[in-house]
Amino acid sequence: MLARLRFPEPESRGRRYPELPHPYRNSFQRDRDRIVHARAFRRLENKTQVFTPGFSDHFRNRLTHTIEVAQLSRTLAGVLDLDQDLTEALALAHDIGHPPFAHAGEAELDLQMRRFGARFEHNLHSLRIVETFEQRYARFPGLNLTFEVREGILKHSRDFEPGDNPAAEEYLPGLRPLIEAQLIDLADETAYNTADLDDGFEAGLVDLDSIAGAVPAFAAILESVEMQYPGAVDRVRFLEALRLLIDTLMTGLIQGTAAAAGESGVRCPDDVRAHPTRLARFTPESAATSVELKKLLHTRVYNSPALDAGRTRSRRMIAELFQHFVDHPDRMPEPHSTMAQEQPLHRVVCDYIAGMTDGFFLRCYDRNS
Ligand code: MG
Repeated sequence: MLARLRFPEPESRGRRYPELPHPYRNSFQRDRDRIVHARAFRRLENKTQVFTPGFSDHFRNRLTHTIEVAQLSRTLAGVLDLDQDLTEALALAHDIGHPPFAHAGEAELDLQMRRFGARFEHNLHSLRIVETFEQRYARFPGLNLTFEVREGILKHSRDFEPGDNPAAEEYLPGLRPLIEAQLIDLADETAYNTADLDDGFEAGLVDLDSIAGAVPAFAAILESVEMQYPGAVDRVRFLEALRLLIDTLMTGLIQGTAAAAGESGVRCPDDVRAHPTRLARFTPESAATSVELKKLLHTRVYNSPALDAGRTRSRRMIAELFQHFVDHPDRMPEPHSTMAQEQPLHRVVCDYIAGMTDGFFLRCYDRNS
């Protein structure tokens, strides 16, 4: 399919600190393993995806969401003849920089940072984690990942232009990420749209009629499921339809990407980087389905009173704890309190809070208020 666009692992720009090759794992396989063994990766288990743990024990958290993205991404890379190891490493790392309390946490940290003329952006934070905060090796800080994995972590969901951010300067600003990295963003979108629909259904926020009314592709799938299994209960009909919906979106993503790559005339990974637009994309039909799903989820799930109250509360607590540590940097533990003497205080406070799990944040908030 797109083997000509697959990034050739032996041509990696390599690691910041050179290392000897491993006898039976290539660089991208080692990067994947390093990500799985990172502390920030394990913390994903206790970070909210959409529903806080109070709702149910079997809703997604950020770790199970990450596993779902990794699974979809491996399939995409396999079908399209791309590098599965690079794709998997990027999928496993894609949310590693997410703060506690999902998008509410991200939005509030960004708001707090703007007071100091700075920003919080989770992809940049992910890069800081794998470059600096993970301390597991005697010879170097961070995980010493390959250039392509670091570039993909930074750019999978947004492009950078030269001068946008000093941290992005070494990662080819102005150029698109590799096709393996581009796919992560849409695998992520497919994973969360369908998973949030699943959890929203389980929580009673959407039902078969409301989904079919808002998403014509789902209505057509549901009709075929009802013909095939007329006696099935709602929940099973929903799950049968959801499975086919994931298939439809994934097929749309494979076909859309293959078509865009064909039409663009790109012939190698460098062409992908130099192309003015991203080439990973849905077909127009599946793109419309993805947008319809998103709209439905915004109205019925994300902005439901059930989730809204928790979000307002989380944002207030983050704002309070942020201000508390700005006023009392000595109340942060080492090494944060020492770092606060060397770096801008707001950045140190932001990094400390961004690294917290939901549970640690709540305990920390209780101790400090
Ligand atoms: Mg994600």
